[in-house]
Amino acid sequence: MINVTIEQHLQKFECIERSTNGTINIDPLQRGGILTDEARAALMEWGDGYSVCDFCPGVLDKIKTPPIYDFVHKVLPEFLGVDQARVTNGARESKFAIMHSMAQEGDWIVLDQSAHYTSYVAAQRARLNVKAVPHSGSPDYRITPQGYADAIQEIIKETGKPPVLALVTYPDGNYGNLPDAKQIAAVCHEHEVPLILNGAYSIGRMPVNAKDLGADFIVGSGHKSMACSGPIGVLGVSEQYSSKVFEKSPSHKVKEIELLGCTARGATIMTMLASFPKVFERTQHWDREVDSARWFSSQLESLGLIQMGDRPHNHDLMFFEAPVLYEMSQTAKDGRYFLYKELKARKIHGIKAGLTKFFKLSTFGLPREDLTVVVDALDEIIHS
Ligand SMILES: *Cc1c(COP(=O)(O)O)cnc(C)c1O
Repeated sequence: MINVTIEQHLQKFECIERSTNGTINIDPLQRGGILTDEARAALMEWGDGYSVCDFCPGVLDKIKTPPIYDFVHKVLPEFLGVDQARVTNGARESKFAIMHSMAQEGDWIVLDQSAHYTSYVAAQRARLNVKAVPHSGSPDYRITPQGYADAIQEIIKETGKPPVLALVTYPDGNYGNLPDAKQIAAVCHEHEVPLILNGAYSIGRMPVNAKDLGADFIVGSGHKSMACSGPIGVLGVSEQYSSKVFEKSPSHKVKEIELLGCTARGATIMTMLASFPKVFERTQHWDREVDSARWFSSQLESLGLIQMGDRPHNHDLMFFEAPVLYEMSQTAKDGRYFLYKELKARKIHGIKAGLTKFFKLSTFGLPREDLTVVVDALDEIIHS
């Protein structure tokens, strides 16, 4: 018998084409996750389910062929500046593993007001209480070490003991601000509070070293910043906490509980390995990316837009206020969708449809010619 409810949808699923192919993409979410040619080939080669498990000795990160063991245990710890590293299914899974293993229900965690929603959700899933360190508001949205000191003091006053963890978002996903993580780590350590550095937008883009910054834990996102087909993440832990976070199952002695035994068990980790040489290389040229972002920011400011957050800016992710575009949207035929449509007509993708007054974008990895196309497009839209 034919199931009509299913049948009527099947045709839609046949080879879905991606409408943004061939555009200049300035979506911050997507810039750092664009695959290298090597990763694209790996995706095809290793696309079958459980493909990496041909020669598995029982744990994903111990697989020698393909060289997952060398990547996870030799390369990643060095790259992240930690004693122990693992791959996970994403930055959020990394954060949850830390929070769940380090804290008990009802414990407190301090995080920054600019923290990603996944930091909150991970804390909620681990049944923690959250206190946010406020940012300075518009236009800087700055997070300070003093804010962490104050939040820790408040928790001590309210509960009689310091929070179990603190987290700093480096940079945050709205303004691309890089707070003084080193000072924040120092403040946390004065109260013996271990610090998580959320590097979803930094690891794989810029050099980040947990030891140099004083972070006890570090998390990154493969599909956000390491040219991977996700979901995949990385997790780094200092020796001091590694037995706690990577505790093994009493019933299945080689399996780590927080990782539910194994994490990225297929094509995702192979795209990470395949892209890594180029990802490592690109982190060495971060200064070029910062120059590029600053140039782009100055071009947009000359068109009347205003860049929020750190100035001069230190990251490719930038947040703009655009009063001129907002004003135009008030009388435009397509209203607040006019900007999206004008950019789409010029094959530029990545500013969220419906936004004109404020929006974020990224210049990461884009050649100057492409950035010039974007600047010229905005110029034309504003001055038409
Ligand atoms: C994108 C993002 C995340 C989520 O990363 P996943 O790997 O998808 O879990 C977490 N934190 C920040 C700051 C992000 O920008």
